[in-house]
Amino acid sequence: MPSVCKRCSQRAILKRPKTGDILCKECFFQVFELEIHRTVVQAGLFQPGMKVAVAASGGKDSTVLAHVMKVLSERYNYGIDLFLLSVDEGITGYRDDSLETVKRNQQQYDLPLRIVSYKDLYGWSMDEIVKQIGLKNNCTFCGVFRRQALDRGALLMNVDMILTGHNADDIAETVLMNLLRGDVARLSRCTSIITGAEGALPRAKPLKYAYEKEIVMYAYFKKLDYFSTECVYSPQAYRGYARTFIKNLESIRPRCIIDIIHSGENFAIKSSVKMATQGICQSCGYISSQNVCKACVLLDGLNKGRAQVAVSGKQRKVNAAYALGMGQLQS
Ligand code: SF4
Ligand code: ZN
Repeated sequence: MPSVCKRCSQRAILKRPKTGDILCKECFFQVFELEIHRTVVQAGLFQPGMKVAVAASGGKDSTVLAHVMKVLSERYNYGIDLFLLSVDEGITGYRDDSLETVKRNQQQYDLPLRIVSYKDLYGWSMDEIVKQIGLKNNCTFCGVFRRQALDRGALLMNVDMILTGHNADDIAETVLMNLLRGDVARLSRCTSIITGAEGALPRAKPLKYAYEKEIVMYAYFKKLDYFSTECVYSPQAYRGYARTFIKNLESIRPRCIIDIIHSGENFAIKSSVKMATQGICQSCGYISSQNVCKACVLLDGLNKGRAQVAVSGKQRKVNAAYALGMGQLQS
């Protein structure tokens, strides 16, 4: 490797995974942060006075996101108030440890933190859910509950926007998965930097063009405090295949990640494709594209001891049951 930084001619210490550029540490920090700033500016993410919550899990992505947002907000005077919002799924040996990391981040970055838990919101922790349903579909429950838990936490904090740590690799995987499943509605929105603007709270992904390898590199060289253990209930088989496929492609052609995202951004969806319209869940009052939201359907299944039925696409029947006044849920 040449020992001179491409930008400043100081001693280089790394090769950028995204571009192959040989850089010194300081120049890497600058280009990495500048690309995120450009993403923020081009998307017009923030208006001065906004209250913005970073969804913080203690993992590398959200830790880098919180750190970079604080740095950029001060450097470029975004005029926003930043907060940390964490979800406690109730997973012993995983989330309890990662939340300790978030609490340290709160001190390190001097940002207010709020933690909302599945147990408080739904009456069930993930440990209890897995005890009832086993290790099949547990991530379906967890994903649906987390999505709503973040909305509910953000509403409690009275923030205007939630930032999530999804990186370029995550988005490329999601494009592929939606393509492989033929999920055209999701395919059309999974690359958007802002989603949910029509609902209660918009969500944005400032790291959507940041490569996972560079996020790890940034966290490493900045000596950020993050938690790197996998969830104890993580099967994620389908996403795992997509991930391995993209990692293999990346090793031959690093641009493939950005190219998959650009392909996703430029897909034209036929006007005849039926898209979901957002409404309000009749049971809990939160955003839903169905009469009863997925969180309520799953929760009802859990409470009645027939959780797997709720997962397996019986939404219409359950909606009908609600319409007849049969669904009794905790508020
Ligand atoms: Fe939840 Fe599955 Fe992620 Fe674990 S791996 S935190 S169970 S979604
Ligand atoms: Zn609901």
